[in-house]
Amino acid sequence: MSVFKYEKDADGIVTVTMDQTGPVNAMNGEYREAMSATVEKLEQEQGLTGVVLASAKKVFFAGGDLNELLAADKGDEAEFMAMLRSTKGVLRRLEKLPVPVVAAINGAALGGGFEICLCCNYRIAWDDKSVQLGLPEVSLGLLPGGGGIVRMVNLLGLEKALPYLLEGKKVAPVKALSEGMIQEIVGSTEELVPRAKAWILENKGNDQAAVQPWDTKGYKIPGGNAGSPKLAQLLMMAPALLKQKTRGLLPAPEKILDCAVEAARLDLDTALEIESRGLTYLAVTPQAKNMISTFFFGMNKVNGGASRPKNVDKTLTKKVGVLGAGMMGQGIAYVSAMAGIEVILKDISQEAADKGKAYSEALLEKRVARGRMSAEQKQEILSLIKPTADDADLQGCDLIIEAVFENIDLKHKITQATEGRLADNGVWGSNTSTLPITQLAEVAEKPENFIGIHFFSPVDKMPLVEIICGEKTSDETLARAFDYTRQIRKTPIVVNDSLGFFTSRTFGTYLDEGVQLLSEGAHPVQIDAMGKAIGMPVGPLAVYDEVSLELSRKAQDTWKEMGVLDKWGDGSVARSVISTLVGEHGRGGRHHGGGFYEYAEDGSKTIWPPLLDIYYKPETRVSEQDMKDRLLFRPVIEALKCLETHVLRTVADGNIGSIMGIGAPVWTGGYIQFVNTYGAQRFVDRCGELAAAYGERFEAPQIALDHARSGELFA
Ligand code: NAD
Repeated sequence: MSVFKYEKDADGIVTVTMDQTGPVNAMNGEYREAMSATVEKLEQEQGLTGVVLASAKKVFFAGGDLNELLAADKGDEAEFMAMLRSTKGVLRRLEKLPVPVVAAINGAALGGGFEICLCCNYRIAWDDKSVQLGLPEVSLGLLPGGGGIVRMVNLLGLEKALPYLLEGKKVAPVKALSEGMIQEIVGSTEELVPRAKAWILENKGNDQAAVQPWDTKGYKIPGGNAGSPKLAQLLMMAPALLKQKTRGLLPAPEKILDCAVEAARLDLDTALEIESRGLTYLAVTPQAKNMISTFFFGMNKVNGGASRPKNVDKTLTKKVGVLGAGMMGQGIAYVSAMAGIEVILKDISQEAADKGKAYSEALLEKRVARGRMSAEQKQEILSLIKPTADDADLQGCDLIIEAVFENIDLKHKITQATEGRLADNGVWGSNTSTLPITQLAEVAEKPENFIGIHFFSPVDKMPLVEIICGEKTSDETLARAFDYTRQIRKTPIVVNDSLGFFTSRTFGTYLDEGVQLLSEGAHPVQIDAMGKAIGMPVGPLAVYDEVSLELSRKAQDTWKEMGVLDKWGDGSVARSVISTLVGEHGRGGRHHGGGFYEYAEDGSKTIWPPLLDIYYKPETRVSEQDMKDRLLFRPVIEALKCLETHVLRTVADGNIGSIMGIGAPVWTGGYIQFVNTYGAQRFVDRCGELAAAYGERFEAPQIALDHARSGELFA
């Protein structure tokens, strides 16, 4: 029996219901067999009047089988290409059936799922927020190779299709309808198949209803084909604009643009063949392997709770106390209220607490103004936040998160003052960015209930939370903090206590390497350009200015007091640069009137001229490749050390944490995954060269040597 249910009704309409054996329908061997047999049967069906394509799963169809894509290796291209050709050939036969084919879309249809829909003559979707439509392959380093590029370009025209292809934009049914990606929406899933059948019957005798627009004689692509003068300018500029965005580090968008242009130039079948070649090329690139491994498999592991203790039942946070209504506290209050949690927002005065709540009001107002929320919804969410200066309001909180100033004495004081207000088994979370959790927990009555819940700024936008277990943190506390993080729809990585945890410690090495290069005499503009050339959002000196040199100076002072200065390596070069810039010249960073850069009122910045007098040595020769590798290898080495010493509990946490928390280049798939496709032995060798030339900080950690020897991947 096929995994595609085949039912013909009295009107001669066959409903094909896809119901594969896995949790979702996906384009794998099972699909290929079922679809091919189904199309063959449909071609031979006597008295056929129409076909409805439906799904028995919650997700209409999930898309390509990523395990299969991950397994495709260099050398497998011919086989891969043959498989694509045959898959697409079957879909081409489906759309060429002499009767109308209707997609009844009851759930998300993304990637391959939407490509199947595009092969139908008519597309009806359930208007529900679970239904998303689009072609997000680019976000995994791939392209829509099941006909998605070619049909979208033919359907919408090149200009309108490009954002969907290059940015992987997903849309809700209403938007898809207005864009012309689907033709109809219905209010419930029950209406889908009947409505699809009704449409087929309404079109009885209308031969055109069974013909795709692009198979109609004389069909013209909306907006013209690639040769049209209207598109000439777009096509002239597009490659350069794209390159500026990808910095040449991501092959997928470039390939997509190529294939889309070909689709607007050539006949459908030739364009489909070129599209297949494009996907075959991309499928074996390291970038695709990295992005699939981390953004799909790693992300599922992390959000699925690979680092959450299994022996604790799922918990729900109902009331959270946020101490400190400053930059972080107000953001934490907002995201908690957005998830429907009651929030007590406490600061030293009612006025300060009110100010913190006003932040939520402003963000919600923006949503209302943009039509993304009603005024009533806004009020409902706001009413969940109670600003106060009174500790008594914290009584019965399931969770208290402190986000007061970064001062250990103050944090100790407020822990002692308010921990007792927690409900039984309530969790105490600290949002500290630099202080060890174990030390903060020393004054707690119940250190087992104490944990680090490290948010990133701005809290409402940054998707990551780093959960830090102290020495005494219990499994139950970890599970509760994890569940809260999922409740507020963020991604939690779990790490063990260590100075700077995982994210700050790893990120710090990028900044440090920037100032090492500066001290050697490299040009500051070149240093920052090389940071961007490897795919970092901002160069190391520019980001140092944002983080603030002044803050680094303070952190160094605190670490010295705590006796942990230089715990992770020699920080003397950074200290000397900070002392020169901050101590001698008052250059504390962007928010202290300027640092490495000067900031003009219009937001532009230029290198602070004396920086060149102090550091720049034109005779310094560090090749661009060395600069790039130095800026990339430092955080990679640090991430490996975190894995080696169990600061990181899983590889996936390290990869997701580096991408979502500290801006690791997406093409790497995260700082650990990078080594997998770079090659562990090659990595060790390159570390050796860099160590010989620039110092022991580049020595490969033991764990890299082990993997180089065993050939085992980091997973
Ligand atoms: P902030 O200065 O903006 O806010 C701190 C708030 O705490 C102020 O409103 C202050 O009035 C209040 N406060 C001080 N003493 C208090 C008390 N006894 N009770 C209640 N409130 C009190 O600081 P921030 O940037 O929001 O940082 C807060 C914490 O979050 C720090 O530990 C910081 O290291 C950490 N953190 C900051 C960032 C960031 O990017 N700013 C990122 C991650 C973590």
